[in-house]
Amino acid sequence: MGRDGTLTIVKARRLVVRVCNALERKYGAREMPSPRPPLEELLLGVLAQGSSERSASRAYRRLTQFFVDLNEVRVSTPKDIEAAISDLPNAEDKAYAVKETLSHVFNKRNEISLGFLEEASAAEARRFFAEMEDTDRGVIARVMLFSLGHPAMPLNAQVDRVSSRLGLIQGDGDSSESRARLEKIVPSDRMFDVHSLFNEHGRKACLAARPKCSRSVVRSYCRTGKKLTASSRKTRSRSKSKSSSRSRSRSTRS
Ligand code: SF4
Repeated sequence: MGRDGTLTIVKARRLVVRVCNALERKYGAREMPSPRPPLEELLLGVLAQGSSERSASRAYRRLTQFFVDLNEVRVSTPKDIEAAISDLPNAEDKAYAVKETLSHVFNKRNEISLGFLEEASAAEARRFFAEMEDTDRGVIARVMLFSLGHPAMPLNAQVDRVSSRLGLIQGDGDSSESRARLEKIVPSDRMFDVHSLFNEHGRKACLAARPKCSRSVVRSYCRTGKKLTASSRKTRSRSKSKSSSRSRSRSTRS
């Protein structure tokens, strides 16, 4: 166990493989969806921040309908871009972010495409993205994993919650530290499996307010799950003994 209460990397890696196998048996094997072009994935990631994937996809579609092409989006005013994506929360900030992203790509590549990354190595892709200092690292991670197939861990609320309850990360809200740690722990060929399975487990069982630990297939590996089921057993047995002593005293009075 590390000083901060998280598991050592070796123990955590062993645990993650076991958990992943158990979740795969429960929810089924994962299949990576067909990759989107990296620029589309990047813009979707920008639009999805603080919003749902569905709303981000709708907003992206509207961008492609309102404007002739992404180059026209780049040269348009943030106000015009905002009008196209106005259903999203923080549409004004996102309009600026979309314009900045497209301007960065154009300034670096002299075209509105990141197609060259499909042929690039993971190190080359990482070097290119390192220069996009204002872009959230989680957005970069989703492009690396979903679009380019390189090992990276995009975190969302579910993956973060399941990982922290299992003791893999600290869960203190520092997503860049958590992501970096998960990228060290998870074997590179299982990044997508872990992302997808933890996501499903987080939505179906490991709920934010009331995790369904008693029915969780990974409870035997999960320290939070063990703690929560032990304390609910204690509460149940305490209330059982209270009600039986109440009925005993009632029968003595009668
Ligand atoms: S056992 Fe409970 S806390 Fe642990 S991962 Fe499953 S649902 Fe979450």
